[in-house]
Amino acid sequence: MFIDTATITLQAGSGGNGAVSFHREKYVAAGGPDGGDGGKGGDIVFVADPNLSTLMDFRYKRKYVAPNGEDGRGSRCNGRKAEDLVIRVPLGTVVRDAASDLVIADISSAEPVVVARGGKGGWGNVHFATPTRQIPKFAKPGQKGEALEVRLELKLIADVGLIGFPNVGKSTLISVISAAKPKIANYHFTTLSPVLGVVRVGPEASFVAADIPGLIEGASEGVGLGHDFLRHVDRCRLLLHVVDVSGSEGRDPKQDFETINAELAGFSAGLAERPQIVLGNKCDVATEEQIAEFRAFIEEQGLRFLPISAATRQGVDALPGIVYEALKELPPVTVYEPEYVRPDPSLEDPRAFTVTKAADHVFDIDAPWLERILAGSNVEDYESLQYFQRQLADSGVLDKLNELGVEEDDTIRIGEYEFDYVF
Ligand code: GDP
Ligand code: MG
Repeated sequence: MFIDTATITLQAGSGGNGAVSFHREKYVAAGGPDGGDGGKGGDIVFVADPNLSTLMDFRYKRKYVAPNGEDGRGSRCNGRKAEDLVIRVPLGTVVRDAASDLVIADISSAEPVVVARGGKGGWGNVHFATPTRQIPKFAKPGQKGEALEVRLELKLIADVGLIGFPNVGKSTLISVISAAKPKIANYHFTTLSPVLGVVRVGPEASFVAADIPGLIEGASEGVGLGHDFLRHVDRCRLLLHVVDVSGSEGRDPKQDFETINAELAGFSAGLAERPQIVLGNKCDVATEEQIAEFRAFIEEQGLRFLPISAATRQGVDALPGIVYEALKELPPVTVYEPEYVRPDPSLEDPRAFTVTKAADHVFDIDAPWLERILAGSNVEDYESLQYFQRQLADSGVLDKLNELGVEEDDTIRIGEYEFDYVF
C-alpha cells in the first residue's frame, strides 16, 4: 500500500584523476614516475530513520550531490576519498529507478544501503611504468559517479482494503471503525487518495484498513484514477467489499458486486483471488427481501456476507473482531517485483566510439575516452604514442577506419586533435 512518493535525482561523486608526475631531486636528471591515484568519489547512501514518517522533505529538495574524490599528486600522494552523502528516509521506504520503475533498494532495516556509487579514482602514472615504458606521461582520469533519478515510495501495508463503487459507504465505515477521518459526502470521488485507518480490536490487537476511493468500470484499463487505486489494494490481505444493498442510487447490488470483481481481475489475477468479506451496507434503508436476496447470491459463491449500516452502526461494532480473526488465518501477500539490475560500469563499454567519414580523406572519431588519453599523453613521446596506438587497435577504432577505407596520409580528427594516418 503506497501512500507517499517523491522523485529525486542523485549524483554520486566522481573519482579524482590520477596524477602525471616524476620524481625530482636536485642533480638527478630524470626520476621515475610518482603520480599518485585519485581518491574515490562519495557514494550516496540511504539510511532508515524511524523518526521520519513522510517523504515531505523530498518535495522541497530534489537534487542530491555527493562530493568528488581528490586528484592524485606527485610523490605518490593519493587523493583523499570523498565523504559519502547520507540521505535519511522513513523506515520502509522503497527506492525505485525512475526510468525502469524497478526496485533498487528497500530501506527496511538499520543497514545503510549504497544507492549511487561514487566513481573510482584514476591511476596515477606510477602504475604505468613497465620495463619498456619507463616514462609514462599519462595517467587515468577518475571514473564518473553514478547518476540516477529515483522515485521514493513509502509504503504502509494495509491489511485490509475497503473496495466498492463510489458512494456505497466506504468512507463512512472506516470513520466509524477507526480513528481515520475521511471526507464523507454524497457525491462520487470524494476521496482521491486512500485513507488509512488503524482499527483497534483490543489493547494489543489492531489492523490497518485502507479506504480505497470508489472504483468505477474500466478502472483496470486506466479509466479515471482507477488504476492507481487498484495498485493501492494490491497488497491488502483481505478485501472488504462494500455494496449498497439498498440500491439507493438505482443500481443493482449484484451487478455492482460483479463489476468491481471484474475490475480486480482485469488488474491482476492475484487480486481477483484475494479473500473477500462482503458487507451489505445501508441496511437501514434496505428491505428485508433486498437483504435476503443479496445474502443468498453471495453465500452461493461461498463468501461470507455481513449486513451492516455504517450510518446507524448496525452490525458495525462486531466487524473489527470478525476481520481480525479472519486476518489471523491469512498469510502476508507477496508481490512479485522484477529485480533491478544495476548497470555495471565495468560492463558498459568504456571505450565506445563512433567513426565517421567527414569528407574525402578526412575521418572524425568521436570517443571522449580517447581524447582524455590524448590529453594525458605527450605525442612527442614514443612510449605514450605507442600506448595511444595500442588503444586505437584494441578498441576496434582502427578496424572501423579500415572498413571506411582509410588511406595513408588521410586526416584523422579526434576532438581538438588532428593528425595524419600512418601505418
Ligand atoms: P464512499 O464513496 O463509498 O466512501 O461513500 P461515503 O462513505 O462517502 O458515503 C456516501 C453517502 O452514503 C453519504 O451520504 C453517506 O452518509 C451515505 N451512507 C453511508 N453509509 C450509509 C448507511 O449505512 N446508510 C445510509 N442510509 N446512508 C449511508
Ligand atoms: Mg469515500
